[in-house]
Amino acid sequence: MCDLHLHTTCSDGILSPETMVLKAKEVRLAAVAIADHDTVDGVDPAIRTGKQVGIEVVPAIEMSCLYQKFDVHILGYYMDFHDPELLSYLEKVRAKRLERAEKIVAKLNEQGFPLDVKRVLEIANGGALGRPHIAQALLERGHVKTMDEAFVRFIGYHSPAYVPKMEISPLEATGVIRKYGGIPVVAHPGSYRDDKLLNVLIEAGLMGIEVYHPDHDAAMSEHYLEIAQKNDLFITGGSDCHGGRKGRLFIGETNVPYRYLAQMKKYKGLA
Ligand code: AMP
Ligand code: FE
Ligand code: FE
Ligand code: ZN
Repeated sequence: MCDLHLHTTCSDGILSPETMVLKAKEVRLAAVAIADHDTVDGVDPAIRTGKQVGIEVVPAIEMSCLYQKFDVHILGYYMDFHDPELLSYLEKVRAKRLERAEKIVAKLNEQGFPLDVKRVLEIANGGALGRPHIAQALLERGHVKTMDEAFVRFIGYHSPAYVPKMEISPLEATGVIRKYGGIPVVAHPGSYRDDKLLNVLIEAGLMGIEVYHPDHDAAMSEHYLEIAQKNDLFITGGSDCHGGRKGRLFIGETNVPYRYLAQMKKYKGLA
């Protein structure tokens, strides 16, 4: 089995790429994909550990996009993740994440909940900056008691210190992933349920659907499985594990059969 959606300290996960691969070994996975938000920095370290312990590591990314003001995430598998042009594109995307974090912190300060952007940067420790790092800083300062409260009261979609992300459309992300040889797959479509958007993305070159995800119930997975099969798309799935940031570890709980990965590898000429 494999888990094709994991986050590490290179974005908003709390386990290093190396530790994540060791966890994969513990739960007896054959392969994992490191799919951090807007970065591929975790891929090489994970591959190194994978070679040592006998776990196949798939290079991946999860690009954060906006579509009509709501979050749409596009996974990319097997991009040429050392391509300098791709790396500089991703650096620019992450610079926008920093600008956004500064705006969120400024809003929180105005609203009477002082935070220091420096502390948020320390928490992210070089990883792609995200709201979870701000949530952790709010927690540390005692402004909230749980991460969830931070999202509900302050930085969630409808909350007073919310600032939208940079305007990368899922169409752009699909194009970027393909440009660098990757396979674009829409992540957890059940979190917004917009089949029209899926059709638009398929028209634009989307190649797969994340059918299995902890936010999908059985009926949703069945629905997306049908769409994938009807359109001849790759099928993926994974735990979206953030190393326990959301209270407990998810790795090993949403596995997909290796044959789904094998189909992508075959397409890429890797199997
Ligand atoms: P960002 O990419 O900065 O917009 O942050 C989005 C990330 O925040 C998601 O990938 C999740 O990891 C995390 N997240 C979203 N909602 C919540 C929540 N209610 N509680 C904890 N983490 C959340
Ligand atoms: Fe995340
Ligand atoms: Fe996501
Ligand atoms: Zn994710």
